[in-house]
Amino acid sequence: MFNRSRRNLARWFTLSMGSILTIFAGTIFYQQVTDKLEELDRLLYKKSSIMIASVQYELHQGQWQVSLDNVPLLGIKSQSLSSELIYARWYDANGQLVQFYGLPASEKLIASSEFLTVETVGERHNEWLRQVTLPVEYDRVTIGYLQIATSMTPIKETLREFLLLLTIAVPGTIGVIGFVGRALGGLAMQPIRQAYEQLQRFTADASHELRSPLAAILTNAQVGLLACANDESLQKQRHRFEKIANLVKSTSLLVSDLLFLARHAGRLNTESLKKIELGSWLQALVDSYVAQANAKQLNLQCDIPRQPIEVRVEPTLLAQAIGNLLENAFRYTPPGGTIRLRLFICLGLVIIQIEDSGIGIAKEDLPYVFERFYRAKITRAHEDRTKGFGLGLAIAQQIIEAHGGHIRVNSIVGRGTTFQIEFPTF
Ligand code: ATP
Ligand code: MG
Repeated sequence: MFNRSRRNLARWFTLSMGSILTIFAGTIFYQQVTDKLEELDRLLYKKSSIMIASVQYELHQGQWQVSLDNVPLLGIKSQSLSSELIYARWYDANGQLVQFYGLPASEKLIASSEFLTVETVGERHNEWLRQVTLPVEYDRVTIGYLQIATSMTPIKETLREFLLLLTIAVPGTIGVIGFVGRALGGLAMQPIRQAYEQLQRFTADASHELRSPLAAILTNAQVGLLACANDESLQKQRHRFEKIANLVKSTSLLVSDLLFLARHAGRLNTESLKKIELGSWLQALVDSYVAQANAKQLNLQCDIPRQPIEVRVEPTLLAQAIGNLLENAFRYTPPGGTIRLRLFICLGLVIIQIEDSGIGIAKEDLPYVFERFYRAKITRAHEDRTKGFGLGLAIAQQIIEAHGGHIRVNSIVGRGTTFQIEFPTF
């Protein structure tokens, strides 16, 4: 129980911290991409401004003409600006290509926005470029367009390295978080475990200590009963002694149930398990209940497969769990009803079903019947018919789970109830 809670705590801690970390890493990566792109755009803008500053617009033989002679990369007299640019293009005011450097260009200006990411089809592989297209104006009149582009490969390389770092660092950190979560879960569970163990010890000690005085009271009541047995004048006292004896018997039963629950918490030791052939073992167990079934006019049936099914269990405990379920079936099934025990294997699980045609359990009671001291409303209303403490199913569940199994219940009011025990095959 504590290990499961600890695992759950660690799982939720890792999941929440991991999600926060992943979102954080994603945001940082996105920020890095935008920063790099802005940096590249600033560089492109700076280069295009230098080139635009070298464009000359002059009167030549009575006509205004654009001269690109001094423009880096495009002009004849120009000096190389830098080799980082993949291409530079000059378009006239109508968007017609006039001159270009680097990659060949289309005859007509296509770009609509200033900054653009474009993909070029290369011989060996495609390349991503960042392109800027700026209108060049003279006296508020557009005299042409300059378009330049640079490779995005260095940025992509940097981002790829960053992404690689994140993909290694994030799962690694999540692993560390998981480890820390487990350790923290253990620390958080410690006081709860201590308090629970203290409570278990108290229940066990108190139940154990109550046994001797209860036994003494019962003996005294029985001695008193014997003394009054043959004397008619002591009838009243006899009734009292009988009442005391019955109450003590039922309290002793409660005390031993509590003691059992306190002592048998948690998984069983593998050394205490014995290998048994479940079919014949169950048949013998059912046979020992036939007399009880007959006394209550109930039809007890057993459906066991021919092939042997071997399991490793603590036979005394398992007998008590199945006994509790059979006793419930006897108790909550009216005379003439049928109780059937079935054994079979399904999907790799050993399944034991105990089905009765009794009063059934209401839907609203079903989730609680395995809780300690819980009794269904309908049962409490018939207190004379069914005296119990509501511990039988809690004990059965504790035993089955101690074996690594599960117990479920299905019921329809007025039709009957089926309890199903599932064990992994060994
Ligand atoms: P005891 O501690 O003596 O077993 P109990 O039988 O009341 O008392 P549980 O065996 O824990 O306690 O069962 C809990 C409740 O579940 C019962 O009070 C009853 O309401 C309901 N229940 C259990 N088994 C059946 C069944 N086969 N048919 C109908 N109701 C059932
Ligand atoms: Mg019971």
